[in-house]
Amino acid sequence: MTQDLVVVIDHPFAKAILTMLRDKRTDQISFRKGLVRLGRIMGIEMIKYLDVEKAYVETPLGVVAEGVRIPDMDYIVIISILRAAMPMVEGLIKIFPSARQGIVSARRVEEKGMSPGYEFEVEIHYTKIPKIYERDTVIVVDPMFATGSTMVAVADRVIRESKPKRLFFATVISTPIAIERLRKYLDSKGLISRSKLFTIAIDPEVNEKGYIVPGLGDAGDRAFGHG
Ligand code: URA
Repeated sequence: MTQDLVVVIDHPFAKAILTMLRDKRTDQISFRKGLVRLGRIMGIEMIKYLDVEKAYVETPLGVVAEGVRIPDMDYIVIISILRAAMPMVEGLIKIFPSARQGIVSARRVEEKGMSPGYEFEVEIHYTKIPKIYERDTVIVVDPMFATGSTMVAVADRVIRESKPKRLFFATVISTPIAIERLRKYLDSKGLISRSKLFTIAIDPEVNEKGYIVPGLGDAGDRAFGHG
């Protein structure tokens, strides 16, 4: 069941970028650029799951050539979960330049700790989401999908007042715990068949602080030059 939801991007270039991101010696600029590149790669992969139509054009030789067009690309809404999503969104926007954008400022309340069920309380401070129509594909972006608490809280906010055609989740590293939490949530809302989770890797563990292991550390801190 999980297989249908999850798309692991098995491209050597994506894997090489992830390896560079995991390396603790990678500096802020390279780290940020790596996330931007992964956003682009992910956008190209997502197009495989959009509807494609036949199209016919006349070439300069006066001959009609058969091709395709992808109307769904004009109906994309990208939701950034601040702050770590920002570089990945920069890459996604290169692939979907006409995307409408939303912002959610959310944080897991790490001071209160993680529950034995690997759950964090999530605070949502600010939400600005454009109107979502039934023709839209919504992409929710958060590179580190550790416990799924934040992603599920944000997805719940996004779909509360809308029923998009598709719901995509863009992550760099996921864990089985987070995937299972998202799967259960989407199942409970009857959304699983219209949803896809895109990730570059699935790491096995989350430590007691809620960090992915082996992971890549704090993606926000590393991309923004904090810590
Ligand atoms: N957020 C991060 O930046 N890294 C993790 O490993 C988990 C959550």
